[in-house]
Amino acid sequence: MLRIQNLHADVGGKEILKGLDLVVPAGEVHAVMGPNGAGKSTLSYVLTGRGGYEVTAGSATLDGEDLLALAPDQRAARGVFLSFQYPLEIPGVPALTFIRTALNAQRRARGEPEATAPEFLKLARENAAALKIDFDMLKRALNVGFSGGEKKRMEILQMAMLKPRLLILDETDSGLDIDALKIVSEGVNALRSPDRAMLVITHYQRLLDHIRPDRVHVMADGRIAASGGPELALELEREGYDKYARAA
Ligand code: ADP
Ligand code: MG
Repeated sequence: MLRIQNLHADVGGKEILKGLDLVVPAGEVHAVMGPNGAGKSTLSYVLTGRGGYEVTAGSATLDGEDLLALAPDQRAARGVFLSFQYPLEIPGVPALTFIRTALNAQRRARGEPEATAPEFLKLARENAAALKIDFDMLKRALNVGFSGGEKKRMEILQMAMLKPRLLILDETDSGLDIDALKIVSEGVNALRSPDRAMLVITHYQRLLDHIRPDRVHVMADGRIAASGGPELALELEREGYDKYARAA
């Protein structure tokens, strides 16, 4: 499903990704761990098409299609979704309006009919209830004045409603209390599906205890330095990234 080969990318004239290879088959959840500055966020931005990140070599395909040739909104329409470490506050735009606009833009791009207002509200009510989000909160400006846990819940709500095919979570768990962590991991687990791939960037074994990834990758100095099963995350927790950081 997601296939990254020999990916090189520059940020601000400096090479950050230095020949990264990674394959995430449909139906699988892969964790990416690694020291600060390894290039984990850079990878998520390159895959979603954020400006300022220049790919200098290599490829990234989703179901065989060249992801890097597409504009960010086209990637979103193909089902690429990035959950930010720090969700943005958008004053003046109610959360419901934001999600409805995103959902319908994606449907239009795919040639599907837009959701009518009643259809959309029903979908929003069902998903909010499942995530224990007070529906009135969705009428407020997106994330403005929301607590950390509420913001993360909003991210999960967006994922649940947009039904992405490739889900990237960039340290969605950092700074979360136990309850919010549970919401994030339950939300991720509920989205596990045979036709969806997920990349979970995290520092924390406690998130992986809940999510149980199929594969774990260690990223160091712009490359995947090691890959393994869930036991690799336990080893990292015991021994740290030193070994990989030094080898890189
Ligand atoms: P991680 O998410 O693994 O902690 P990042 O992808 O955020 O790593 O950063 C990788 C490296 O890229 C860091 O050394 C960081 O300083 C550098 N970097 C990030 N953004 C810029 C930028 N705009 N200009 C120059 N260097 C940058
Ligand atoms: Mg980062």
